[in-house]
Amino acid sequence: MQPIRTFNVSPSLPEKLEPLRKLAYNLHWDWNVETKDLFRRLDRDLWESSRHNPVLMLGTISQARLQEVSEDEGFLAQVERAALQLEDYLRERTWYAKHRDPDKQSQDCYAYFSAEFGLTDCLPIYSGGLGVLAGDHLKSASDRGLPLVGVGLLYQEGYFSQYLNADGWQQERYPINDFYNMPLHLERDANGNELRIAVDYPGRQVYARVWRVQVGTVPLYMLDTNIEPNNPYDHDITDELYGGDLDMRMHQEIMLGIGGVKMLEALGLKPTVYHMNEGHSAFLTLERIRHLMENDGLSFHEAKEVVNASSIFTTHTPVPAGFDMFPADKIMYYLGHYAEKLHLSREEFLALGRENTGDLESPFSMATLAIKMASFVNGVSKLHGDVSQRLFKNLWPALPAGEVPITAITNGVHARSCVAKFTQELYDRYLGPKWSTTPAHNPLWDRVSSIPDDELWRAQERCRSELVVFVRDRLEKYLRDRGGSLSELSQAQEVLDPSVLTIGFARRFATYKRATLFMRDLDRIKRILFDLHSDRLKGGMLSPKKRMVQFVIAGKAHPKDIPGKEMIRHIVHFIREQKCEKNIVFIPDYDINVARMMVSGCDVWLNTPRRPREASGTSGMKAAMNGVLNLSILDGWWNEADYVRTGWPIGQGEMYDDPDYQDEVEANALYDLLEKEVVPLFYDRDEEGIPRRWVAKMKQAIRLNCPQFNTARMVSDYATYGYFPASDRYYQTIENHYQPAKELAHWKQHLFDRWYDIKIETVDISAPADIQVNEDIAVKAQIHLAGLKPEDVEVQVYKGPMDADGNIVDGVPMTMEYQGSGANGRSIYTANIAYSSSGLQGLSLRILPQHPYLSSPFQPGLQVIWANS
Ligand SMILES: *Cc1c(COP(=O)(O)O)cnc(C)c1O
Repeated sequence: MQPIRTFNVSPSLPEKLEPLRKLAYNLHWDWNVETKDLFRRLDRDLWESSRHNPVLMLGTISQARLQEVSEDEGFLAQVERAALQLEDYLRERTWYAKHRDPDKQSQDCYAYFSAEFGLTDCLPIYSGGLGVLAGDHLKSASDRGLPLVGVGLLYQEGYFSQYLNADGWQQERYPINDFYNMPLHLERDANGNELRIAVDYPGRQVYARVWRVQVGTVPLYMLDTNIEPNNPYDHDITDELYGGDLDMRMHQEIMLGIGGVKMLEALGLKPTVYHMNEGHSAFLTLERIRHLMENDGLSFHEAKEVVNASSIFTTHTPVPAGFDMFPADKIMYYLGHYAEKLHLSREEFLALGRENTGDLESPFSMATLAIKMASFVNGVSKLHGDVSQRLFKNLWPALPAGEVPITAITNGVHARSCVAKFTQELYDRYLGPKWSTTPAHNPLWDRVSSIPDDELWRAQERCRSELVVFVRDRLEKYLRDRGGSLSELSQAQEVLDPSVLTIGFARRFATYKRATLFMRDLDRIKRILFDLHSDRLKGGMLSPKKRMVQFVIAGKAHPKDIPGKEMIRHIVHFIREQKCEKNIVFIPDYDINVARMMVSGCDVWLNTPRRPREASGTSGMKAAMNGVLNLSILDGWWNEADYVRTGWPIGQGEMYDDPDYQDEVEANALYDLLEKEVVPLFYDRDEEGIPRRWVAKMKQAIRLNCPQFNTARMVSDYATYGYFPASDRYYQTIENHYQPAKELAHWKQHLFDRWYDIKIETVDISAPADIQVNEDIAVKAQIHLAGLKPEDVEVQVYKGPMDADGNIVDGVPMTMEYQGSGANGRSIYTANIAYSSSGLQGLSLRILPQHPYLSSPFQPGLQVIWANS
């Protein structure tokens, strides 16, 4: 039945409870213990059944209950405290105010684009790690007081929820999100109408309206195309996260990138930085260039300099297959009009997304587009930064991989969102309330040792018990929803043991994460699970208390990932066939809430990816912040953590060619660690029942990992190395009606025309082949600059040890001095060098472009010129 009219009906609250409305609509409640408690206290059942959604709660709670609490002095006092805390929070964000040039503070605006955001349970618009990271980025940007705004899509169905059929095969369900009962605001224009934008698609325009979720001080704006007069297909552009085929993907990415830029403009925002979190949003660069060309009369190259100065790209993928690619014809079909507007030929346009611009067959890569358009590019852990340098090295063909201008900012997690309530209160008490944002090397972290062992251990035992109760209830509810038998239901209440060493494994079921590695040797894992070690049973001495082990497992496979689903089924079958229903539990429908319970309630966090496939990994960081010990392959973040003091490394970072052999070796290493280190340490108790050495390790995990793998640190790094410099570059390029951008574009053109005529003609080296350490060597070069000026280039000596293949490795560049031009018109450069270590050492010369406005001398498309041997 079609309505003739619709109403947006909002909850009616007694006056004394009015502050609840404001509290409900700012996601600050998600990471504020007091406010969360308040909503739980209002109606515990409704809080759970609404998926922790205070807006839905306020809309459906009985008037009688509202009346009751509005006369409850204790409750009202808590409302007041929570309201004051929110007010204080919104006022007191000072990191940015302290660290940023005061003149720039009123102008700076950083737009953060992401295809998904994982903020809280009741906003299921994320699929996994990438989304949760983006959500934590916004939360910490708010904590830090950054002038940041999020840009995304508001999915009607979001990501699927998971259930398993009787055979353990993953099934997907797509619950509909009811935006009107979520903590969302519909943005309106000055006349009170829905704010709308229009985006060009082939043969039509698609309209979108704008929703905002308020994350502390940071607004996240999201586009919604499920409106009239869009056609039914276009309604679905913002329907499902990563759903549909390649064409739908294209529609979504156009909406995110191009629609996102139009939306910011409609909102009256003028970002100084555009941060692309993954390549999905990279079309934003095309729309910005178009806008600058049409509105400010810039040429393509001039506009590109402005965009380049102010764009940041974060890559999250360690394998080429992970990058978003579109066939050239699709790009031209959907975006051919941009080629026209940007005055580019088909091949010039496509070249923006191609590594090898001469390869007319190659598809269009969103990551390549993002890199070519950005002046700051980073991977998400140190190891992933190195891997990315190698992955994208072909964009800088003459550059050693180590100098490819891609850096690393290691991911983090938002402390107040992932540490259990009880543990947060413990930290607040012993470390002071600033622990969640205090950097490493601050004396605050020394106070971790002052937390009494028994208190920390009791907190851990309490979290484990809460996890056990949570798992049982969740399983029972899940079984009841699926029509489970009475005996099944009662079995659910018997899984796990709150006193047993609990190992957690939760992540996307992609095959490289090897969720089933720990089951590789059936006998051995059963011995570990049930403590069937022959040596301890020798002589008929059964240990007084069995040293058992239990596993809690969760995770979704992508709907199209058949091998991933097979791994889930394998686990379910294993549990049944080996009768370990009590020791191994698979929790269906992994989400932020399940993650929070697991990373606080487990004792050990297991991760077994194939190195270097885990770009960063963040669930292990969440665990570490709770004092949970990591047991993991040296990959992603764990590779740079203090893995000896805060957990255990599996292997030593080896890489293997034979995956089966690798599985064998690493499974055995895992079993060895469990048998010889983890289990004995956990069960080594003193007379008070406390495992002192385990607790000491927990304290190290808290002290060392909490400040480091924290989005407070991460967002400060993005601000310091990314946002501040990029904003400054932006201000610089747009001065005087874009004069510097124009100058830079013209200079580059001039440089390009002459670059490949440059020749290093002679190099004189004043030393024999056999020299001593620290012996002075004079180097003199004559260079034909092909019409360029000495200030247009930097000439460098490049020296370093030789490897077995005859290449200089880890070379160090040193600037040569210009000495004027010689009789033949050649430019003369000199330098004095010496080698500080012995062995076979190499020397070379190279030439780089140089200009005060260049963000880096390594420009894609302009090769570094090396001296020929
Ligand atoms: C933290 C988190 C992730 C990411 O965990 P990884 O260790 O990176 O796999 C995925 N999903 C949810 C729900 C999370 O909370």
